[in-house]
Amino acid sequence: MRLLLVEDDLPLSQQLRRDLHKAGFAVDLSDNGIDAEFMGLEEPYDAIILDLGLPQRSGLEVLKNWRAQKNRVPVIILTARDAWHEKVDGFKAGADDYLAKPFHIEELMARLNALIKRSQTGGAGTLQVAGLQLDEEHQVVINKDSARIDLTGTEFRLLRYMMMHPGAVLSKSRLTEHVYEYDGDRDSNVIEVYIKRLRNKLGNEVIKTRRGQGYIFGQPTL
Ligand code: CA
Repeated sequence: MRLLLVEDDLPLSQQLRRDLHKAGFAVDLSDNGIDAEFMGLEEPYDAIILDLGLPQRSGLEVLKNWRAQKNRVPVIILTARDAWHEKVDGFKAGADDYLAKPFHIEELMARLNALIKRSQTGGAGTLQVAGLQLDEEHQVVINKDSARIDLTGTEFRLLRYMMMHPGAVLSKSRLTEHVYEYDGDRDSNVIEVYIKRLRNKLGNEVIKTRRGQGYIFGQPTL
């Protein structure tokens, strides 16, 4: 999953980025409204964390502009404590959820995970596909025989994205866009290497290759 974090408080954004990385997210940062609006329109983020008090263009204005351009990416706004009107204005502008500062990172993670699952799978709770269960907290996958299989950071990001889209043909470029950051290693051939590693760990049959198109995880939903 790839996130855009829009926050002009540098110590806070650096800390959040570290925590989000550890939780298996690729994170792009923006510290002002103008860049944030552009990035949100150009890149296929799975969710956006948006501070409302931003230099150059307010978070509220950025959010309104995204929605006016039919960008429906899930957005969690960060509001000032006790500013109830900010929450109301935020929801009116198209926010999906909010957190009042200061907040606990655990609450942000829980809201983020729930929001992404609702938007991508229509449900919530544990990801279970093709006999596999993903333990997102520990970044471990549990197979049919109840064996716990460790995953590296990239393997986890890739597998989580695929498990959220079972049966869909996922091109290498789409997988790259959702697994890596903007300035990260975006060579889509690297995806092949990670697919191979996942097959070694989970069995060949779990991920099928559709020649010239991409990969299919699990069974197509007919
Ligand atoms: Ca701010």
